Amino acid sequence: MSSLTGGSYPPTLINDQEKERLVQTIKDWSIANGLAVRPAIEDPDGILAINAPVTLFPSPFPKTCFEEAKAIQTSYNELYSRISQDEEFLGSLVQEVAGGDDFIANLWDLHLKVKSQGGYTQKLTLGLFRSDYMVHQDNNSSLQIKQVEFNTIASSFGGLSAQTSLLHSHLSQTEYPLLHSSPPALSLPQNQSTQRLAAGLRTAYHAYGPSSLNHPTCVLFLVQDGERNIFDQRHLEYALSSSSIPVFRLPFSQILQHTRIAPTPDRQLLYSPPPNPCLTFEAAVTYLRAGYGPTDYPTPSAWQARLQIERSNTIACPSVLTQLSGMKKVQQVLATPDISVLSKFTSSQQQHDALWKTFTNIYPLDNTSSAGQLARKLATDPIECLKYVMKPQREGGGNNFYRGAIPKQLEKIPEEHWGSFILMKIITPPPLSNTILRAGKLEHGGVICELGVYGTCLWDRKGSGEILHNEEAGYLLRTKGDQSEEGGVAAGYGCMDSVALV
Ligand code: ADP
Ligand code: MG
Ligand code: MG
Repeated sequence: MSSLTGGSYPPTLINDQEKERLVQTIKDWSIANGLAVRPAIEDPDGILAINAPVTLFPSPFPKTCFEEAKAIQTSYNELYSRISQDEEFLGSLVQEVAGGDDFIANLWDLHLKVKSQGGYTQKLTLGLFRSDYMVHQDNNSSLQIKQVEFNTIASSFGGLSAQTSLLHSHLSQTEYPLLHSSPPALSLPQNQSTQRLAAGLRTAYHAYGPSSLNHPTCVLFLVQDGERNIFDQRHLEYALSSSSIPVFRLPFSQILQHTRIAPTPDRQLLYSPPPNPCLTFEAAVTYLRAGYGPTDYPTPSAWQARLQIERSNTIACPSVLTQLSGMKKVQQVLATPDISVLSKFTSSQQQHDALWKTFTNIYPLDNTSSAGQLARKLATDPIECLKYVMKPQREGGGNNFYRGAIPKQLEKIPEEHWGSFILMKIITPPPLSNTILRAGKLEHGGVICELGVYGTCLWDRKGSGEILHNEEAGYLLRTKGDQSEEGGVAAGYGCMDSVALV
């Protein structure tokens, strides 16, 4: 993005002493302020933390793009709350991918089981969403945001992201002015992601109301065993506890051991914390930071556990239907021009057009639609395929096939299952460089930034579909080396960053 900054920012540090000083400050600030993850190495006592990978400088990001992404978030919240209430629409898309995707088939099955076992009792659903974008430069060189994906489950890094913004702001006041190539005053927007996401959870907690069984109520975080990104979750948890809301972490693998459904028509979800099984809480809100991929369901009892959550009266964040609305297939169908699905879910032409502008080309890979047939040609052509990424219906990073790997992967999949994937045009942001501090080592070079905007939404899933709460909730900037395909921080490819608006 040198055209935006004159090429002098972010500076390339050449003086070793300068580098060392800046790195030392980042190392200490990060641990002191919980910008950290658990290490991958053996740590039997569970006492170690290491710095989350981070850029030395906030990356320049076009202000118009940043503001557009933030402004559109409440429309995205509304859109996905509507999609997740349209059972028929979701069911038809599940049919298209389920043949080659057992996981999606099982999630849909779970929804059908709830319906056949007395239906849903809780009318509210909470979404903690994150819409991800990259900056795209079109032919007449204007810059615009293009959506990479929309996350409806376990949207992570809200906790670490607020800390990263604080780190860069601290450095801009203390360290950057001391550098030989000291940058000019930076425009660093505030980032309230921790507080805003916690506010979403808090709103749902209060909407649930007091227990009719006279139990204390709580928020339950369902988590993965051995989670390394735990401090990200802890920041949210502490923000909730500080407003006197009891929060508990429960491994997804232990749901059936520690929760049960009350034998009442409402089916309250009761939770007894392990140290004192006589004490029983009612889970007002259940926030999933697990359960988004097949590895969390190694046995039928894990599916039984998810069913227990879904059938109960707890406000699920998200419900299984909301999880399914985050399928890449949904994103593809919304972005396919000739079927104009988007207009069905939007409330005005203006809203429709603003959302539409953020889409890039995404194709189905089915064998029946004309778009699918075209995409099959593109995906198997050795030159054309280089412009695309092929995605299955998965979350959490590391699942996609890029460019030249697409035809080889398709060869391994029976043709009748190609429709379980979508084919998406690769977005290539303008070139930019920065320095990443990862595992104590500096990596300097070309980088690609991905902006995520958080949103919180609470709606009535029964009847009117009324939205009770709808807010934009701060942002995340993740940056990766420009030679890397994936950008997930937890998956080990990307790093934390924040924006310097230009
Ligand atoms: P996941 O749900 O696993 O995070 P994503 O759709 O976000 O899946 O893909 C993972 C990563 O792949 C993104 O963070 C981004 O770095 C890269 N990626 C995905 N789609 C595109 C695209 N259309 N253009 C450029 N990079 C992409
Ligand atoms: Mg995702
Ligand atoms: Mg992603």
